[in-house]
Amino acid sequence: MSDSRRPYALAAVPAVFAVLSLLAALLPARPAFAAAPPKAPAATGAPAATAATAATAGAATTAGGAAPAVSGDLDPDLVALYIDLHRNPELSLHEQKTAAKLAERLRRLGFEVTAGVGGTGVVGVLRNGTGPTVMLRTELDALPVEEKTGLAYASTVKARNDAGLEVPVMHACGHDVHMTVWVGTAARMAQARNRWHGTLVMIAQPAEEVVKGAKAMLADGLFGRFPKPDYVVALHDTPKLPAGKVGFTPGFILASSDSVDVTIYGKGGHGAAPQTTIDPVVIAARTVLAWQTIVSREKDPQEPAVVTVGSIHGGTKHNIIPDEVKLQLTVRTYNREVRQRVLDAIARIAKAEAAAAGAEREPTVGVVESTPATYNDPKLTARVAAALARQLGAGNVVEAPREMASEDFSEYGLAGVPAVMVRLGAAEPAALARAQAAGKELPSLHSSLFAPDRDPTLHTGVAAETAMLLDLLGKPAG
Ligand code: ZN
Ligand code: ZN
Repeated sequence: MSDSRRPYALAAVPAVFAVLSLLAALLPARPAFAAAPPKAPAATGAPAATAATAATAGAATTAGGAAPAVSGDLDPDLVALYIDLHRNPELSLHEQKTAAKLAERLRRLGFEVTAGVGGTGVVGVLRNGTGPTVMLRTELDALPVEEKTGLAYASTVKARNDAGLEVPVMHACGHDVHMTVWVGTAARMAQARNRWHGTLVMIAQPAEEVVKGAKAMLADGLFGRFPKPDYVVALHDTPKLPAGKVGFTPGFILASSDSVDVTIYGKGGHGAAPQTTIDPVVIAARTVLAWQTIVSREKDPQEPAVVTVGSIHGGTKHNIIPDEVKLQLTVRTYNREVRQRVLDAIARIAKAEAAAAGAEREPTVGVVESTPATYNDPKLTARVAAALARQLGAGNVVEAPREMASEDFSEYGLAGVPAVMVRLGAAEPAALARAQAAGKELPSLHSSLFAPDRDPTLHTGVAAETAMLLDLLGKPAG
């Protein structure tokens, strides 16, 4: 069934796809990797039954070899939760119903649950004797994107955004995957209390997509009112890896992001009498081109950076030279010095171009929103990668490149806790292989066509999170 869930095929045969998807949704979940070839035993002779594997309900292991990628059945109740979350997405800062569903699940599992932390955030604490404290994070929010996947359980939700406009809403970043996996992991950890000791803190964070939720939860006492973790762990899905695989990235995994507003001031007038004006459109055009030399000429080529002008607005009519032009930029970097250098250069060039044109007023340049780069603690990353390799098989745990996207997961690390975010493969493996062979990419995160290979992605996510937690909270073997 899952072989039919191919994003590329879906546009061509939406009706057939819809029927297949409906059947897939109604049928009981199948073993996630029924069709996967058997894995060769690991050369290192890793023990087949790790604590995590044993804790995986219904899991079978390959005698004498590495555990298969994932085995056993996916709880149909989790699939139902995923479909419910996917069908009912909520915008950032408006995740009330989603948060209530997750809080209720944790309560039923015996967690002490606090709702309304930093807005709609949920914190669940499970105390299990003395030992380390580990925090596992999911996000709650969805995006203003109109879903075009053709899935039987596609979102048709519309909601008012903060500007009062009605917008479509979709879990186009896969936060519904993260929430479902998080609930599945909470259940495993609650069942497997004899296999770990310490304190598990599960958090469901609002407003990741507008990079406000992590700060809001921290400001609301996340690390004071609740046990402060020794480690923070999260997953993020990716269509760049096949379902069944996970990716780890030591050090920087995601860039810092700065949103910069620039206003260039000229002197307006008649379009047929430019000599009486100072044309801010021409200044803006020169400025945009000059900014391109920041990345190419002003920083170490070994240090990545992006300067994108995403919005430029000025003027009202063909024959009127306006008084001002407004620009909006996004800046992405990893290194703090490089970030400052790029931001300084943006302001310097804007002011110099305006001066060159004889503008009487300096442009205004302001950073209106910032998110720091996300850093995976290298020691913690190595530790969880080893635990993941034991659970999923070494071939299913790959080093993944860093990306220029941004996340407010960075805030937990900056608050002084070693943190790691692991990539969760979400692509249907055959579709990904076909796309790669053709030199193409599958629909990205935030795309209206993003459709995770549902069951194997969920299954691997639960196995991966459980393996990481049991390793960090695990009792020594023997
Ligand atoms: Zn996103
Ligand atoms: Zn996301």
